[in-house]
Amino acid sequence: MILVVLENQRGNIHAFSKEAVAAGQSLGSKLGMDVSILCLGENASSLKEQANDYKSKSLILAEHDMISAYSADGYSKVLSDVIKDVSPKYVIMGHSYMVRDFLPRVSAKLDIPFVSDIISVTYDGDSPIFARQVFNAKLATNIQPDSSSNTTLLSFQSAAFSSDEIELGGSDAVSVFEVSLNAEDIKSSSEPEFQESASGVDLTTADVIVSVGRGIESQDNIPMVESLAKAMGAEIASSRPVVDMGWLPSYRQVGSSGQSVSPNLYFSVGISGAIQHVVGMKGSKNIIAINKDEEAPIFEIADYAVIGDLMEIVPKLTEELQK
Ligand SMILES: Cc1cc2nc3c(=O)[nH]c(=O)nc-3n(C[C@H](O)[C@H](O)[C@H](O)COP(=O)(O)OP(=O)(O)OC[C@H]3O[C@@H](n4cnc5c(N)ncnc54)[C@H](O)[C@@H]3O)c2cc1C
Repeated sequence: MILVVLENQRGNIHAFSKEAVAAGQSLGSKLGMDVSILCLGENASSLKEQANDYKSKSLILAEHDMISAYSADGYSKVLSDVIKDVSPKYVIMGHSYMVRDFLPRVSAKLDIPFVSDIISVTYDGDSPIFARQVFNAKLATNIQPDSSSNTTLLSFQSAAFSSDEIELGGSDAVSVFEVSLNAEDIKSSSEPEFQESASGVDLTTADVIVSVGRGIESQDNIPMVESLAKAMGAEIASSRPVVDMGWLPSYRQVGSSGQSVSPNLYFSVGISGAIQHVVGMKGSKNIIAINKDEEAPIFEIADYAVIGDLMEIVPKLTEELQK
C-alpha cells in the first residue's frame, strides 16, 4: 500500500501535496498497489473534505489537540504510529519546508530509508528507481531503495508530478486513526510561517507572474518591469540577486530559497535559468523568457524564447499591451 500524507497550507491542501497525490497514484498504478491518503494535524478535517474526490482506497484522519498546529515532534510521532499501524510500502509527501523538518525524524525513529527531493521515477520491472539532484544540481543520481525495507519514505520536488494528473473517483472508505500523544512527546513548538505573513502577497496562487533577473542591471529599471506587470495584470517576482541587491523585497524571490510558484504564465525577464531558480518555477503552465543570450539555460524549459535586449523589448511590449 502507498500512503500519501497531505500538508495544510493556510486551510487548503498544499500545492506540493496535490502533486504528491498524483505521484502516489502513478506509482500505485505502475506497481499494482492501493493508495491511501492521510490527513494529519493542522486543519485535517478540512483537508479530508477537500480530498474527498481523489481516487483512493481509504482516507485516514489523524487529529489531536496537540497537533492542531504543526510541531515536528508531534507530526513525527503520529506519522510513525500510523506507519506502524498500516505498514505502507511507500509514504509520499511533497518536498516542502515542513517535510524537510519532520520527515527525517520519522526515518530515524523507525530506522527506515528516506529518499528526498525526487525529480523523476523510472522502473526496473516492479522496482522503482528515483532520480534526485546532487552537487548543487550539477549531477543527477538514481536511487533504488533496498527492497527488503518494509517502508520507504519519499518526498517529491515541486513539479516532478502535476496536480492536473490527479485521478478522481472518491475514496472507498474513511477511517479515523486514534492518535496517542502525551505532553512529554512534544518538546518543541514552531513559529508561524515567516514568508507570507509580512507581505500580503501570495505568489503561490498568482495566475500571471512577471519575474525579473539580474539582466535588469539597475534598480532604476525595476519600474519598467513593474509597468509590464501592471499592463498584464501580473504579480512581480524575481531571481535571488535582485533581492540580494535590495531592488525587490525577499517575499518576491522565486527559487529553492524563495517561493515555489506554478502560474498559468511565467514571464521571465533577464533571468539566466540557474537550477536554484528553475526549481521554484518549472511547474508553470506556460513560460515565456526574454534573454539576450541564446544559450541561456532558461530557454531549455521556456515554451516561448525571445532572444533579444529586454531594455528594448519590455517598453515596446508594455506600450502595445496598454493600447
Ligand atoms: C544555496 C543557493 C540557493 C539559491 N537560491 C536561489 C533562489 O531561491 N532563487 C534564485 O533565483 N536564485 C537562487 N540562487 C542563485 C542562483 O544560483 C543564480 O545565481 C541566480 O538564480 C541567478 O539569477 P539571475 O538569473 O537573475 O542572474 P544571472 O545568472 O546573472 O543572469 C542574468 C541573465 O540576464 C541576461 N541579460 C543580461 N542583460 C540582458 C538584457 N539587456 N536583455 C536580456 N537579457 C539580459 C543574461 O544573458 C543572463 O542570462 C541560489 C544559489 C545557491 C547557491
